[in-house]
Amino acid sequence: MRAIVFDFFGTLTDPSAELLRKETLQTTAVALGVDPERFWTAMASSFPERVTGAYGGTRDTLRTIARRCGADPDEERLDQAVTTHHAGAERVRTPRPEGLAVLDHLRARDYRLGLISDCSSELYEAWPRTVYAPRIDAPVFSWREGYRKPDPRLYATAAARLGVPAGECWFVGDGGSREHDGARRAGMRPVLVTNAAYPGVGGLRTDPDSYLPEHRVDDLDDLIRLLGSSHDIG
Ligand SMILES: [Mg+2]
Repeated sequence: MRAIVFDFFGTLTDPSAELLRKETLQTTAVALGVDPERFWTAMASSFPERVTGAYGGTRDTLRTIARRCGADPDEERLDQAVTTHHAGAERVRTPRPEGLAVLDHLRARDYRLGLISDCSSELYEAWPRTVYAPRIDAPVFSWREGYRKPDPRLYATAAARLGVPAGECWFVGDGGSREHDGARRAGMRPVLVTNAAYPGVGGLRTDPDSYLPEHRVDDLDDLIRLLGSSHDIG
């Protein structure tokens, strides 16, 4: 196995940061002048459209959702809301404690590293300035590609950009979006990150995967041990 493709939220990010998601969106709502609860509901129900780029970038998305909630923010208000929203998104994507060190370790061992994220515009727009960007050879964003997991095209795109056949890629994720079944069907070898040390966050996953991979690790640093012990089958 020569490459590892990671999920982003709850896999490279701190799973407990998911608990901030509602609070940060409600802060965006206040900046937009929209009722926070109504905004939260509108954002949640528009997830499939937002992560496939249907509303465009963050500014256009916030305008669309605000109008859906009965508000029509002027340009200045929208500017402030975009800034607020990006700051909130940054809090939700805090790296998990050992995450960056694990990526550095794997890079030092000559693994090619990829990413497949079901994400809306915020992550794509901020990506080059994140701590993740220099560590990931081939990021694939649903927002940019126009389809979401488990669409087989995302996995094929990641493998192609890594220059590694899908059959030589691990796929590592916390199991949202039916991502492991997608990885398996794409020919990748799926690994579930159980996040056992983060009780209560599993319920926050979108569209949980019913397929349970053979390979499971509780935390990302366990991945190094798994890869080290799997050379015989890799
Ligand atoms: Mg995830």
